Amino acid sequence: MARLLEGAPVAEALAEIMKEKAASLRETGIVPTLAVVRIGSDPAAESYGAGLAKRAAGLGLRVESRVFSAGTTQETLEKAIRSLNRSGRIHGILLMRPVPAGIDELKLCRLIDPDKDVDGAGLVSLGGVFTGEKETGFPPSTAQAALEVLRYYGIGLSGKRVLVIGRSLVVGRPAAMLLLREDATVTVAHSRSEDLPALTREAGIVITAVGKPEFLTGDYFGEGQILVDVGVSWSPEKGKLCGDLCFEEAEKKAAALTPVPGGVGTVTSAVLLSHVVEAALRAEAKRTNGQNA
Ligand code: NAP
Repeated sequence: MARLLEGAPVAEALAEIMKEKAASLRETGIVPTLAVVRIGSDPAAESYGAGLAKRAAGLGLRVESRVFSAGTTQETLEKAIRSLNRSGRIHGILLMRPVPAGIDELKLCRLIDPDKDVDGAGLVSLGGVFTGEKETGFPPSTAQAALEVLRYYGIGLSGKRVLVIGRSLVVGRPAAMLLLREDATVTVAHSRSEDLPALTREAGIVITAVGKPEFLTGDYFGEGQILVDVGVSWSPEKGKLCGDLCFEEAEKKAAALTPVPGGVGTVTSAVLLSHVVEAALRAEAKRTNGQNA
């Protein structure tokens, strides 16, 4: 019977650490605060923002929404991000993506102050992930969440053969870099990879971030694998959100696997909020160092 790697206890463990840190910041009058920038109306983004705010409140953190209509100009959005960068009250900035057509998303991401770039959207953060410099920006939350799941359940990575399926800047590439940091032997697959079933069967651990419902079926799996499913997509056949894994077939062979929903997605927002706390701590350390200099 495959072990189910549920996200809730991982998120809870991260929350406990955050609560302590947030409490110590509160003693100095600081409430770690995240600004969520939303452009246009997207029910999924709205509900994610509401969920974040609720979770943050339970931890002694704050989430502030900045909502812009789909027709807002690039110039106005850039001005808004610059203003959030300057604000001493805001510690983290999350730009909800994708943004409406006509808006230069990359330019907005790159404008975010690296010290407030809590979802690893900008070049400095990605540089930090690449070089392994932990205090340089922040890793993308989802990529880190996949590793937090493995860490929490005591699944070692050193020397292990890990396959990452997907090479986006949000998940696949940063996950591969974070895995290298943990001494894993990493392969990255994508839509042009030849014989993906064979590549997948050969790996000890698979992290999949494709975004096609139940894309990985029976012949992709080997005995005793650890399967981490980042994918979340709508299956018209099943009429519900599914992961990349065909769960029923995967669990027949796997040693352990994450569910969708209730797996990596549950951990992602906890990682994001932990970055907000970390950003507040860094800002406070900078302020005190400045005073003592
Ligand atoms: P993306 O930018 O669309 O990237 C998908 C990746 O999958 C690409 O690298 C693509 O390869 C690869 N791919 C597509 N078809 C493939 C195939 N037939 N064989 C092998 N690889 C294939 O998506 P993303 O932003 O990384 O997100 C991936 C999934 O994670 C989505 O379902 C998304 O909803 C989910 N997600 C979940 C969370 C969470 O918190 N759980 C957060 C973010 C994203 P090419 O590069 O060659 O096109």
